[in-house]
Amino acid sequence: MSKIHTLTAYEILDSRGNPTIETEIQLVSGIRSRASVPSGASTGSFEVVELRDADPNRYHGKGVLKAVQHVNTIIKESVIGKRVDEQLLLDALMVQLDASSNKANLGGNAILSVSLAIARAAALHYQQPLYQYFSDLISYKSGEKFVMPVPMINIVNGGVHADNNLDIQEFMILPIGFSSFREALRAGVEIFHTLKGYFKQNGLHTNVGDEGGLAPDLASNEKAIECILEATLRAGYTPGKDVFIGLDVASSELYKNSSYWLEHKALNRDEWVGYLEHLVNQYPIISIEDGMAESDYAGWLQLTQQLGKRVQLVGDDLFVTNSRLLQEGIDKQLANAMLVKLNQIGTLTETLEAIALAKNANYAAIISHRSGETEDTIIADLAVGTRVGQIKTGSVCRTDRVAKYNRLLRIESELNDNVLYGDRGVFSKFLVS
Ligand code: PGA
Ligand code: ZN
Repeated sequence: MSKIHTLTAYEILDSRGNPTIETEIQLVSGIRSRASVPSGASTGSFEVVELRDADPNRYHGKGVLKAVQHVNTIIKESVIGKRVDEQLLLDALMVQLDASSNKANLGGNAILSVSLAIARAAALHYQQPLYQYFSDLISYKSGEKFVMPVPMINIVNGGVHADNNLDIQEFMILPIGFSSFREALRAGVEIFHTLKGYFKQNGLHTNVGDEGGLAPDLASNEKAIECILEATLRAGYTPGKDVFIGLDVASSELYKNSSYWLEHKALNRDEWVGYLEHLVNQYPIISIEDGMAESDYAGWLQLTQQLGKRVQLVGDDLFVTNSRLLQEGIDKQLANAMLVKLNQIGTLTETLEAIALAKNANYAAIISHRSGETEDTIIADLAVGTRVGQIKTGSVCRTDRVAKYNRLLRIESELNDNVLYGDRGVFSKFLVS
């Protein structure tokens, strides 16, 4: 088995032009690989620490040279000579080295860049595609078919991801009614371009937000949904049959002084849940992420009781890919799905543990990008390898987003269509009503 020869970290840029970390690993066998780390804007308060230099003379304080240095010194010294296929052990070692509860010492970004570079190098060592390596790591039976994820395609951006007047952060389409990822993605692309033309026709801006979704000012949040449905029809697809709507409300961002702020009005918890229920009654919505603020547990319980049988309710800021917080949510029956972001928790091992916990509790899991991304496509392999059946990786323009879709297209064709599309189990429970 090949051992780790050395690690070298660099400061690179993410899709918003902010510094982030990339680590290159070299094995004794000569194999090299690298991994980089994304960065969020609407971050949950219990995410692990993304270590930044806070040096106002560099990158407005956003440099990551300290994280880079931690990889190039303390982490490197402790992993050199270790077997590259000991993911569990190496991740545990880094957690131990950090010695804090939230990776504040070494930086979650530093640790994750190493964790992912290790996985990629091990896959190369075994001459396996990365998704196969992930699948083996979680001990899937060989021969069990892989599952291509349904893409949650974010085609209208609002909230903190865009400079427009929409409160809801992400309006997504889920092309569920297709038999392959390729055809589902094509539908998504056609709807995106139709929507762009429709906005243009109506004198609206067609500039895009951080995740590549269109970001015009609109009369209301509901109007955004209506425009998407109109574009779906114009593109020749049927809402509620081929294509469904998903929202990421990112409502921790809208929650101030115990009120949810929508279109400049303060709504109390009942009114806010009522608003979300109204949207579900009115439109073919199948998934709502962060419908309630991360601290509003009573609100989450109410939302889950009111809507949890009808739509997927996804905890992003609520769970932050953290098994302890997820277990608490499962015990309290909050939400019914978890968003999975590697950099919220900081190692591959802990991410896989959280996914396993979600699956055991019958919670769906959705592999996700961050709003600040790099060209790294590891989440595409993670989605296929874990067979979770859903991925959220932004719009269908801008290379930082499209790179993941392209990787998925390649995987699907490599698997020669001997692969399933979407997790029927997850959606079938919501499609009956
Ligand atoms: P973030 O947004 O990466 O800015 O946190 C994505 C999300 O909220 O899902
Ligand atoms: Zn979110």
